[in-house]
Amino acid sequence: INEEHTPIAEFLKGQVNIATEYRGEMMPSDFEEYKAKNGFVALEKCLKELSADEIISQIEKSGLKGRGGAGFPSAIKWKMVQKAKSDQKYIICNGDEGDPGAFMDRMLLESYPFRIIEGILIGAYAVGATEGRLYIRAEYPLAVKRIREALQICKEKGLLGKNILGSDFAFDLKVFEGAGAFVCGEETALIASIEGKRGIPQLRPPYPAEKGLWDKPTLINNTETFSLIPYIIRNGAEAFSKIGTEKSKGTKVFALAGKINRGGLIEVPMGITIKQIVEEIGGGIANGKQFKAVQIGGPSGGCIPASMSDTAIDFDSLKEVGAMMGSGGLIVLDESDCMVDIAHYFLSFTQEESCGRCTFCRIGTQRMLEILEKIKTGKGKLSDLDLLEKLAINTQKGSICGLGKTAPNPVLSTLKYFRHEYEAHINGKCPSGKCEQLIRYE
Ligand code: SF4
Repeated sequence: INEEHTPIAEFLKGQVNIATEYRGEMMPSDFEEYKAKNGFVALEKCLKELSADEIISQIEKSGLKGRGGAGFPSAIKWKMVQKAKSDQKYIICNGDEGDPGAFMDRMLLESYPFRIIEGILIGAYAVGATEGRLYIRAEYPLAVKRIREALQICKEKGLLGKNILGSDFAFDLKVFEGAGAFVCGEETALIASIEGKRGIPQLRPPYPAEKGLWDKPTLINNTETFSLIPYIIRNGAEAFSKIGTEKSKGTKVFALAGKINRGGLIEVPMGITIKQIVEEIGGGIANGKQFKAVQIGGPSGGCIPASMSDTAIDFDSLKEVGAMMGSGGLIVLDESDCMVDIAHYFLSFTQEESCGRCTFCRIGTQRMLEILEKIKTGKGKLSDLDLLEKLAINTQKGSICGLGKTAPNPVLSTLKYFRHEYEAHINGKCPSGKCEQLIRYE
């Protein structure tokens, strides 16, 4: 067998492993193995050689942007928390993953617990936090177990508690299990949830960096962001920034799923095209079907048609085509998928997960769903499409948090690129055949 052309070799070729460094070569809970593979070298470097300013400067030079979805420059957040005057600061790792088709956080937490803890420790030291929480959804029992085990080992090895690695840095980190509300992935809702309150997003400012957990300055980054930190510190900002595009540096982890021959967790350099991911890493569309589109970024993202698969995966290119990176869901669709049905599916999810605070997110999405149901069952009118678009735009404008602001994206992107499918349903035909029975039955 020529090992270079096995499915697994093809799947791994083209990937760049930073968050997933030593993929498949380490036992997740083996501390000695992690140490032998450069584990905690970055933390030691921070504690012994770098000042807080120097660490943040490395993060700034690396060009790292938060991997949770919005792509906000990480160094700005770190600086805000570092500069805040307070007797107490906190750090939170946001591992509250809930989008359909997404399993990035789960796989990272299950596979690289020590790397994530090391990233959090470096962040805490840089901003002056002495306490932290790892927010993991309770539906991820293995992730919770692996992190708890790793935390216990870190305590025993003097990497948590007082005088970490002989320095005067003291830090304590605990797991908080989330109850599964998608909206709790939003920073302010997540904080409320840790505080024992209902997870409802708050208007910003003040930002959590100024007034976060228990009203104290709090640094929140997502799991993937923290898992990139040790590499940046160990190898220098330039090693990271030379990967990717001019404005989107480094790599991105995706959960590649859907109608693809080879799915799974992938880590790719920013700037790779959708086509490269689908064809080269994913091995093309399963069962000889035609590639139709990708839904990128889960319910917050958008659909990009196969005809635009040369689109580069980076923050700006995706925005230009009306999609967004999101946290890393990447679902491949084929000719048997109905785009009206896809829009309906994702909107049903966000509608159900809306906390209900904003009128448009609560009621606007409900009205949009009703219109989509009419269209799916062949009862829609052409004028419904304008109404759908109007409601979608108003929901974006009238919502205070990312959930409501991005909920209409799957509808707007499918309306933009697959309007003919909406019109076909209105004329009593589902091009993929998926809604045919619905149309006839009704
Ligand atoms: Fe709640 Fe939606 Fe408003 Fe966000 S946009 S606060 S989820 S109602």
